Amino acid sequence: MIPAPFEYVKVASVDEALSALAEHGEDAKLLAGGHSLLPIMKLRLAIPSALIDISGIADLSYVRVEGDGADAIVAIGAGTRHYELERDEVARAEVPMLPHVAGRVGDPQVRHRGTIGGTTAHSDPASDLPTALLALGGTVVLQGPGGRREVPVTEFWTGFFETAMSPDEMVVELRVPRTGSTGWGYEKFTRRENDWPIVAAAAVGSRGGGAGGPLRVALANMAGTVLRATATEEALAGGASIAEAAELADQGTSPGADMHADADYRRHLARLLTRRALETAAGAA
Ligand SMILES: Cc1cc2nc3c(=O)[nH]c(=O)nc-3n(C[C@H](O)[C@H](O)[C@H](O)COP(=O)(O)OP(=O)(O)OC[C@H]3O[C@@H](n4cnc5c(N)ncnc54)[C@H](O)[C@@H]3O)c2cc1C
Repeated sequence: MIPAPFEYVKVASVDEALSALAEHGEDAKLLAGGHSLLPIMKLRLAIPSALIDISGIADLSYVRVEGDGADAIVAIGAGTRHYELERDEVARAEVPMLPHVAGRVGDPQVRHRGTIGGTTAHSDPASDLPTALLALGGTVVLQGPGGRREVPVTEFWTGFFETAMSPDEMVVELRVPRTGSTGWGYEKFTRRENDWPIVAAAAVGSRGGGAGGPLRVALANMAGTVLRATATEEALAGGASIAEAAELADQGTSPGADMHADADYRRHLARLLTRRALETAAGAA
């Protein structure tokens, strides 16, 4: 299919992008890597009147540490592409789950175009990086006409392709607590290596808490948004074994059915992948 006609605007800064959003109104869409937006435009599931191309904003591509010690934060520019995150030395040292997960997104072509801001804003419940971000904690930094504001990742993804972002705002940064050597595990089940997850589970933290905090678990493709496996987290905090806690991973989820898996199979995967991710995080695998 061919997308419906649209106006194309290339911008060189966040201010220019926000001005263009204000000028073109709610029917305008930001274009980052285009790897989620263009397919849905070709299917005419999205018919934006204007595309505001932010892929040339060099200032939005970075990974850096801000602050010291336990309060240190890893700041990631929204324009950082998956392959840049995968190879970034700061990210590998300070928050190693993210480069690992970035390297599991799609194929090399997707990773060379797709951005962390794009996958965050798109709010697809089957997305890898949002699942990892939800387990890690931290905030999504939005910028709009009123300035910048930070939304906790636990409040950002509000529904199927819906977020807490207003139409006149954009994602400019992700701020993630530094985990360093804290345990983590990421398990993604696919039919082929470069597919989207049928289900994925991310686990971060340790039983004793410490720098990485208590164990947290997030799931992909088990509801309308990526979501935390809160029953599992509470069981772990209460002293349950990993095996016992993982059996609760599908509580509070509402998985769908499609050609890849029915809901019961997804529930089984959520429990299995959660156990494996927790075992890896705990160093018990
Ligand atoms: C073949 C294929 C396989 C894929 N496999 C996977 C996979 O295995 N796992 C996975 O997680 N993803 C996968 N993806 C999706 C990929 O990660 C996308 O790149 C990503 O979801 C969107 O990022 P983007 O930069 O391409 O965003 P775009 O497609 O440009 O934009 C997506 C949406 O976000 C908005 N947007 C973009 N940037 C911003 C911003 N800074 N602020 C506000 N709104 C913004 C756009 O307006 C649009 O609505 C796949 C995609 C393809 C085509």
